[in-house]
Amino acid sequence: MPNPIVPEDLRSWAEIDLGALRHNICRVRERLGPGVGILSVVKANAYGHGALRAAGVLAEGTAIFGVANLREAMELAPVAGGRDIMLLSPCLPGERREAVLGGHVVTVSSAAEAAAYAAFGRVRVNFKIDTGMGRVGCDAGTAESEAADLARLDGVEVHSVSTHLPSADEDDRFTARQLRDFVVLREALRGVFPRAKFHAVNSAGVLTNGDGGLEIARPGLILYGVSPLPAFQSVFRPVMSWKARVALVRDMPAGAGISYGRTFISTKPMRTVVVPVGYADGFPRQASGNGAGVLVRGVRCSLLGRVTMDQIIVDATGVEGVVEGDEVTLFGKDGDAEIPVSELAAQSGTIAWDILTGIGRRVERFYRD
Ligand SMILES: *Cc1c(COP(=O)(O)O)cnc(C)c1O
Repeated sequence: MPNPIVPEDLRSWAEIDLGALRHNICRVRERLGPGVGILSVVKANAYGHGALRAAGVLAEGTAIFGVANLREAMELAPVAGGRDIMLLSPCLPGERREAVLGGHVVTVSSAAEAAAYAAFGRVRVNFKIDTGMGRVGCDAGTAESEAADLARLDGVEVHSVSTHLPSADEDDRFTARQLRDFVVLREALRGVFPRAKFHAVNSAGVLTNGDGGLEIARPGLILYGVSPLPAFQSVFRPVMSWKARVALVRDMPAGAGISYGRTFISTKPMRTVVVPVGYADGFPRQASGNGAGVLVRGVRCSLLGRVTMDQIIVDATGVEGVVEGDEVTLFGKDGDAEIPVSELAAQSGTIAWDILTGIGRRVERFYRD
């Protein structure tokens, strides 16, 4: 696919490949049983990709969208293609009225919480059960009695019953036991909520357990083409590449200190380039001094010294003909060379979710299809 011309005055941009997004949701579809619905997670601005554009592409394969909060749901509603929207985390008391009037599916941990919504009108709820995440949800041990209370409430429709997997990418045994217990619980709750759909699997869950024997899957990260498990990375196509342009080329002598704290001192003459992204744009400061690099003209160049707020400095000594305005790849592909976002995350002591959602407002989103 030809790269459309990126304006020369873009200092830093996230290039979003909408075709890759389509590819990824199809790959998710293939891993699920027929009739299993996809809850496409588009919270946090679709993991930094732009929720409005992402939802437009994902709507066709999506049964329901998942967002973190009411504001995200309100922004998404006009482009959701008529799909329902689920708020995955609890609303504040002051948000409940708006959530009910918006017709969104809200997540509740108790019958009392559902009743507080129902005070504002008919509401559809996702009844969350805590089977090991320790975040939101009703304790699994009291889920049956809570469900009985929930079923007695007027104006409350139980759209779904769900749980969350805390270790689907690191503990197969725990996850398998969790899913098994949840399927058992479903049999007990089926009679109480005959129309409810059950769901548990996130991206790692989809990769390791398919649909987990449930009716809805809730992928996030893999839709954006990043696999939480390296073994599955080749199935997916990364949707985002983070790019910038060389702002300044300099020839530095031996013995020059580079960036705050002078943690890097050149041992020989070198050509450095300044790239106009820093930790204020979401480029992780923790990447400093940990072997991180960027691509300039398809050549991997090491980051020198500390990441500053607005700029990083890179060793471009080995890059033939580098000039100001040249494209720089912070993660993603440049020709045959690639820096996966997971690599930058690992070098920064964090995870791909954190890097993607942390990319700031100064970084323009540039779409191609
Ligand atoms: C964010 C989220 C997901 C998606 O997680 P991924 O690991 O990105 O697939 C699924 N379920 C819930 C409740 C979430 O909050």
